[in-house]
Amino acid sequence: MLIDISRPIHSNMALYPNNPAAVLESVQTAANNQSGLTRIALGSHAGTHIDALAHIAAEGSGIEAFQLEQYIGHVDVVEIPSNITTITAQDIPKTTAHRIIFKTANSRHPIDNFRPDFTALDESAAQELMNRDIVLVGIDALSIKKKGMRDRVHEILLHANVVILEGLYLAGVEAGQYQLICLPLSIAHIDGVPARAVLAPLTEAL
Ligand SMILES: [Zn+2]
Repeated sequence: MLIDISRPIHSNMALYPNNPAAVLESVQTAANNQSGLTRIALGSHAGTHIDALAHIAAEGSGIEAFQLEQYIGHVDVVEIPSNITTITAQDIPKTTAHRIIFKTANSRHPIDNFRPDFTALDESAAQELMNRDIVLVGIDALSIKKKGMRDRVHEILLHANVVILEGLYLAGVEAGQYQLICLPLSIAHIDGVPARAVLAPLTEAL
């Protein structure tokens, strides 16, 4: 069985401050011999999405710099106790995979609420992921770094070409090993791209 860990896209979805709201605008409806058609307008960091180097560096690459192989395969979902709101190197449990997803207190809150005090990583945690040769890191927050903190987390990870998968929602997901299947839309040369992400049991043939 597959577990959807993506956030549905709709006009009232939770947004990081200053991000534009999602707009789903009917261009025409399916009636009178015409087909239904909707214009979709979305911030590039809305909901479940991948960050690219261009998010933090004006001349940085878009997601075309990542390999498709980074998005799919063995992942450790690790649970961070809810009293921890800043994840440091010491807070990251032992892992076996080259992909890691953090389940935090964020997934205990309603999916469509943005809370400024969300749980995220600090610089030491990003450095620890580098030591473990991680190729993808996911989190159930709309940003992988704490709000208001100087941003070494994106810098460390994106300059090393690590995929940052933000905006997951992990309520009901147990910590453990899974297969991750996650693919961003094929939009080149921009700073972030929406993605769908699901978990499959390690044992299940896909
Ligand atoms: Zn982002």
